[in-house]
Amino acid sequence: MARLTDNARAVLARRYLLRDDAGAVLEEPEGLWRRVATALAAAEEPGERSRWAERFEARMAGLELLPNSPTLMNAGRAGGQLAACFVLPVDDDLASIFDALKWAALIHQSGGGTGFSFSRLRPKGDLVRTTHGVASGPVSFIRVFDAATETIKQGGVRRGANMAVLGVEHPDVLEFVDAKRGPGLENFNISVAASDAFMRAAQRGEPFALRHPRSGAPAVEVSARELLDRIAGAAWASGEPGLVFLDRVEAANPTPDLARFEAVNPCGEQPLLPFEACTLGSINLGRFARGGAVDWDGLAACVRDGVRLLDDVLTVNVWPLPQIAAVSARNRKIGLGVMGWADLLVQLGVAYDAPAALALADELMGFVQREAHAASEALAAERGPFPGFATSALARAGGRPRRNATVTTIAPTGTLSVIAGCSSGVEPLFAVAYVRHALGGVSLEEEHPELLGRLRALGAEAALPRLLANGRARGVPGVPEEIQRVFATAHDVAPEVHVRMQAAFQRHVDNGVSKTINLPREATVESVRRAYELAFELGCKGITVYRDGTREGQVLTHGVAA
Ligand code: UDP
Repeated sequence: MARLTDNARAVLARRYLLRDDAGAVLEEPEGLWRRVATALAAAEEPGERSRWAERFEARMAGLELLPNSPTLMNAGRAGGQLAACFVLPVDDDLASIFDALKWAALIHQSGGGTGFSFSRLRPKGDLVRTTHGVASGPVSFIRVFDAATETIKQGGVRRGANMAVLGVEHPDVLEFVDAKRGPGLENFNISVAASDAFMRAAQRGEPFALRHPRSGAPAVEVSARELLDRIAGAAWASGEPGLVFLDRVEAANPTPDLARFEAVNPCGEQPLLPFEACTLGSINLGRFARGGAVDWDGLAACVRDGVRLLDDVLTVNVWPLPQIAAVSARNRKIGLGVMGWADLLVQLGVAYDAPAALALADELMGFVQREAHAASEALAAERGPFPGFATSALARAGGRPRRNATVTTIAPTGTLSVIAGCSSGVEPLFAVAYVRHALGGVSLEEEHPELLGRLRALGAEAALPRLLANGRARGVPGVPEEIQRVFATAHDVAPEVHVRMQAAFQRHVDNGVSKTINLPREATVESVRRAYELAFELGCKGITVYRDGTREGQVLTHGVAA
């Protein structure tokens, strides 16, 4: 079993370990791995269960592969809801709006996050026929969802997370774009769904028509470029909204016969159809470096186990709604991804912002994707393809039957990376040393586990206090060149390189890639727009920017406080 950091133990004890009715912790982390592995292996043939349970347990205990948080929290418990991401439909009537709200509350209670498109709602000021009143518009309903989430958030296993998507052509888009500039909507991320037509109009400086969502009639014409600048300006100021390139997302829809995409999950990496869910899992890449190279065989074996484990999650999951159970059973979407990418690069001695890192991202994720698809094909041979396969885009293109309509996603791994003690997702190191403000106000000091060893090897331990004080290595006098190069942090990496890294991974991912494009504090609105245009050009499915210092109470702060 791999060693857990103190931080990992604290996180597990707080939310993941089983407790009795009085709140006393009933299991050790070892027990957690066994509970989850045993619960998932129940999907296997009776004679094979103990063999698979042992395999899954070894993967988790070795911190090589972890399923998403709801699986770790709830597997083997009564009513175990195991998926992290859901999308619920919101139609332009009160019954539908409040059904979605109620279902979201139930999903939050189980640790899942919910995404919604509010694009179908009539705009503010429109007529309400039944009451002869005036419609209040999508943003006011988003505030209702936010208030409800706020009120119930203490009851669930974790704070409910939401995503609101609004189409760029909706007449209320400007109100939406600015909705997070002020206080409120703390329980929502927001994203504008930008069509290809809109992005092209913005590039060409053409006008763009906002349209009534029900009739499709043009409501008002705006300058696409000015609207994109408004979005960039709000994101510059507050980190939101993000952009989702919905046409591109739709082009990769494996089951367009079932429905079109309208929304994504809370952190944006997972487009889903109405009532669809996705189960995520992440491989810790730092565990697959051997002697300064990638252990390809070891990685392939872990990918195969990961696909099987996630397919087993689907089988044993207790879905929160019959509609969700039906779509999930039909498409069997899973999202296997990676974390610890920056750690792997450190072990290989490759700087995150070197061309070699971009090339390795392509090679590595291409490998993971091929192995994952092959594993899903092997499962289809064993267990049958996902029931929607026959009418899927995959079948129409002559593809081999798969067990899962999608197989790969790169999740943020916000908590999983803490549990595994690795860098999150495919992000650069946030810092080489930092204070983590978490766990009810407790501050934890950490340095990168490889840092001291590398300094020693160079006979440069004397630089450690400076590194701790600065949180970064680049540009710090007295820090060896080699350390400065390899320990690149999020703020050392140019925005363009962030976007290129996202695009490199996206080329080999069925779903989306969670990535934050970090900008320095002094970045301009113009640079945000350039990042949008590059992301669009390079085939990303969306983009989220974050300018340093924009939000108060950041979870991570540079440098260890003196
Ligand atoms: N999520 C959520 N609430 C949270 C964190 C995450 O509902 O507090 C959902 C959300 O859909 C997000 C997904 O889980 O996109 C994956 O997030 P992450 O990888 O950070 O979760 P982890 O498994 O590491 O806890």
